[in-house]
Amino acid sequence: MSGNEVSKVVSIKVTTRCNAWCDLCGLREWMKANPYDMSMQEFERFIEASLVSGYRFDKVVLSGGEPLIWPSLEQGIYLLRKSGLTRGITLYTNALAVALLSRDILAAIVGAVDCVRVSLHEWNRQSYLTLKNQFGARVQCVERPFVVPPHVPMEGSLPADCTCKSLSVSRDAVHLCTGQEAVAARLPRQCGHASSSSAEIRPGYMKSLDFDRRHDRDVCKACLSNRKVAAVQPCRNPIRCKMSL
Ligand code: SF4
Ligand code: SF4
Repeated sequence: MSGNEVSKVVSIKVTTRCNAWCDLCGLREWMKANPYDMSMQEFERFIEASLVSGYRFDKVVLSGGEPLIWPSLEQGIYLLRKSGLTRGITLYTNALAVALLSRDILAAIVGAVDCVRVSLHEWNRQSYLTLKNQFGARVQCVERPFVVPPHVPMEGSLPADCTCKSLSVSRDAVHLCTGQEAVAARLPRQCGHASSSSAEIRPGYMKSLDFDRRHDRDVCKACLSNRKVAAVQPCRNPIRCKMSL
């Protein structure tokens, strides 16, 4: 996969808070170690650095944590749309927060994105159906079993057969892919961090990302986006989830 192909999609992790606490969440260690809600200044810094660099995206995915509980979501979507940085905007959510948002705010949010993708389980089926009934085809579900995230590197899994085609952004950095931060947080320090690739958010940030080694790094050995890792990990479904609405 070329850097050009990867750089067409970017996933912005707008918050590391989540209103669910899933048993098998692969992001848990990372979210716990990096509590944040992205500020609008941080969000705008990424947009501006990208624009002045001449970068444009086919799709920006707003994810987390849980993006529907990010306090700046409505404003962030508005700014992103107005900037012209991306052709499409997708919201990736567990949908639980629909019960807390007014109908008007929900309509403003969903109406301003191209697609809402809901990771569907028994515990959020009702929230998904509420969204689906209100907004129809714009709301899509992703049904897949939870896979136990590995906490040790799996030998023989490089080069990675990776399903991810996105860069990712956290509050202060751009990362070569969506998996590396969560994997690095899960692994013992000596094997998780050395081979990640990130860049400070500033003009020209893509030049600092190591696209040539994208699939050949230590973090890929424990990443569920690597098909060679996912194939040998046990699945568990349904998962337990404590909701904190
Ligand atoms: S919904 Fe569950 S799996 Fe998704 S980020 Fe929250 S805790 Fe993790
Ligand atoms: S860590 Fe490796 S396998 Fe995981 S998303 Fe990144 S490139 Fe793909």
